[in-house]
Amino acid sequence: MTAQRTDERDNERRRAEHEPLLRIENVWKSFGTEQVFRGIDLEVDRGDVEVLVGPSGSGKSTLLRCVNRLTEIDEGAIYLDGERVTDADANVNELRQQVGMVFQDINLFAHLTARENVTLGLRRVRGFGKSEARDRADRELANVGLSDQVDSYPAQLSGGQKQRVGIARALAMDPKLMLFDEPTSALDPELSNSVLEVMERLVEAGMTMLVVTHEMRFARSAADSITFLEGGQVVERGPPERLFERPERERTREFLESIY
Ligand code: ADP
Ligand code: MG
Repeated sequence: MTAQRTDERDNERRRAEHEPLLRIENVWKSFGTEQVFRGIDLEVDRGDVEVLVGPSGSGKSTLLRCVNRLTEIDEGAIYLDGERVTDADANVNELRQQVGMVFQDINLFAHLTARENVTLGLRRVRGFGKSEARDRADRELANVGLSDQVDSYPAQLSGGQKQRVGIARALAMDPKLMLFDEPTSALDPELSNSVLEVMERLVEAGMTMLVVTHEMRFARSAADSITFLEGGQVVERGPPERLFERPERERTREFLESIY
């Protein structure tokens, strides 16, 4: 290893020790004349679960999309593991491997089986061989309770099962961070539970997660911290016990009471 390489590794390690895994710094964003963010700051430490709540249209989805650059910010910066990922020359493909995303709309390829949906990225993006990809996909699908559905097509799966394939597909890429955008809001309560259970297991396994959800039971039990977003800013942030029992802002209390 060259001296320069060693220096880079050292820098990386130092950064990793002091940096939160995700750091969103003074982010501003507008769509046309609509100012969606007016200086958002948010940090998520390694292994922590941050739950993001806020009224419809407050920018929750946009914020997640900014983290993996499906949407570009206007000002500020976002750092993943100390790397400034919002720089124009940052590697977006690498970023998206490191940041798994699960959406509300279950976006599987309809003409591919559950297994094929998971192997696709492994083969195309990570360069896995056929059998290696297959083994990995089957392992990920087993972890989300879908061993018996590997050959099923999306149309043969329930909403909860499809969502779990989506989670398995994201996890197969070995992400450092998982983003969840209302993963259960399109599902019936029984189907939601199967997805929430998978998410709870991920929490236990130490995954760092930024989760948009109205499932306050999950937020209470799994979140290290809850961020309430409104009017383009973080109105209040704190551990669930405090936010639920003793919110500092009246607005936070009103909002939380309206959703649970
Ligand atoms: P939330 O997820 O909290 O409901 P969104 O992030 O979806 O909010 O949207 C925040 C605001 O930004 C909304 O007013 C929405 O209409 C607007 N918006 C989001 N994406 C776009 C886009 N691609 N073009 C224009 N406006 C958008
Ligand atoms: Mg949304």
